[in-house]
Amino acid sequence: YCPLPLYLERTKESYRVHAAAQEQMPGGVTANIKHFAPYPIVMKGGDGARLTDVDGNTYIDYLMGYGSLALGHGHLAVTQAVNSQMQKDGTCLFGTPHRLETEYAKKIKCFFPSIERLRYTNSGTEATLLAIRFALAYTRKTKVAKFEGHYHGGFNEVLYSINPDEIKAGDAEEPLAVPESAGLVPGGEKNTIILPFNNSHACETLLRKHQNDLAAVIIEPVQGGFIPAEQAFMTHLREVTRELGILLIFDEVKTGFRSALGGAQSVYRVRPDLTTLGKVIGGGLPFGLVGGKKEIMDVSSPRSGSDVFDTLQSRGSSAEDTLFHSGTYNGHPMILAAGLAVIEELEKSYTKTLNFTCELKNELASFFEGRGITVQTPGMGTIFNLVFADGQIRNYRDLKKADLSFRKDLDFHLINEGIYTKPLNRYSIATVHGEQELRKSIDALHNIFAHRTGRP
Ligand code: PLP
Repeated sequence: YCPLPLYLERTKESYRVHAAAQEQMPGGVTANIKHFAPYPIVMKGGDGARLTDVDGNTYIDYLMGYGSLALGHGHLAVTQAVNSQMQKDGTCLFGTPHRLETEYAKKIKCFFPSIERLRYTNSGTEATLLAIRFALAYTRKTKVAKFEGHYHGGFNEVLYSINPDEIKAGDAEEPLAVPESAGLVPGGEKNTIILPFNNSHACETLLRKHQNDLAAVIIEPVQGGFIPAEQAFMTHLREVTRELGILLIFDEVKTGFRSALGGAQSVYRVRPDLTTLGKVIGGGLPFGLVGGKKEIMDVSSPRSGSDVFDTLQSRGSSAEDTLFHSGTYNGHPMILAAGLAVIEELEKSYTKTLNFTCELKNELASFFEGRGITVQTPGMGTIFNLVFADGQIRNYRDLKKADLSFRKDLDFHLINEGIYTKPLNRYSIATVHGEQELRKSIDALHNIFAHRTGRP
């Protein structure tokens, strides 16, 4: 039975707020990802594992700010850290260095030993953009390679082949760069090489073909947070990139402090040249960072001649020698305080969250299997997805074979039952999810299927 009539009935105020938003913003949203048909639910509050919408419905939240909220909504450790930082120094935008910048960096390095030096940004997108600029500056090459189906944020070089039409994407062993946005620089696709995920042989062939131009390979070590690279594939990728003088960038914006506390790199025991982090590390506030080998990161170190006053005095040293990285809000103390609080809490409760994630995955899988429905719950650490498909999911093209319309229907039914994730999105688990949430989720499934089959 169709979940939409009940959805429309329960979310009338969301409809009204969204309609008013459409008069102000294209599509009524500030980010395309927030939109889904017929209209998105408008939330007004969050507390722990719960969300409340403008109609007064409450939900168990499995979206968790697209994975950013590792401790759930409004966790005391985070709000207290932000409040006390604010009370101490106001909104404390000094525009100067401050101590928390170093304290936070030391903390990150405890979990990510591959990060010898780092720089802060205001989002994951900015971090990956900067990582690619570091690679181009350091190697003095011109192209970057990314994997089909991988997402690295919203800037030109990586806006190819995230969710391509298979016909346009061409051969699975040598995929074409399919633009994912209007307004990309014409011809830009020549600078982005698309690689097939979890296919070592085809990947190596392409890397060898483009080795003279390729500055870096950027990879989500666990695609979308839930399709893991195979160990042999990852080890091979590290070896080939090293041999060919191509930098390896791990985009751990999603996987950092989620696949494991030390990110996917700690699981694969692979040392990337550069790493990007975001989401969890800002405690729900806008943040990101790029870090890696000292000799690469030092390309951004200001030298004499890199600011206007120096340049006037010491002609000869040019800005082209130094990587440009600046930002009014970089290293904002309130965000660093929030991030530190999150990491400290996770040190105490990550294992518990991991165990809960396994339990939830098992319960969901046995619910569907008990009804003869083939389901998979791929993932790593505290993220997973519900995929209705036969056969192993190893890459983007495998994922395309899943039954998305069943999944989407299910997501709307779950929303009607008070279980929220954006339709078709993955599940991100937080420290605040527990036995009560699990029971409510499984009860919701029982209700949906009792209605569907007429049997409890
Ligand atoms: N990289 C990955 C792997 C991501 O999942 C995302 C966001 O979902 C980004 C980069 C971009 O981060 P942000 O949305 O903070 O710009």
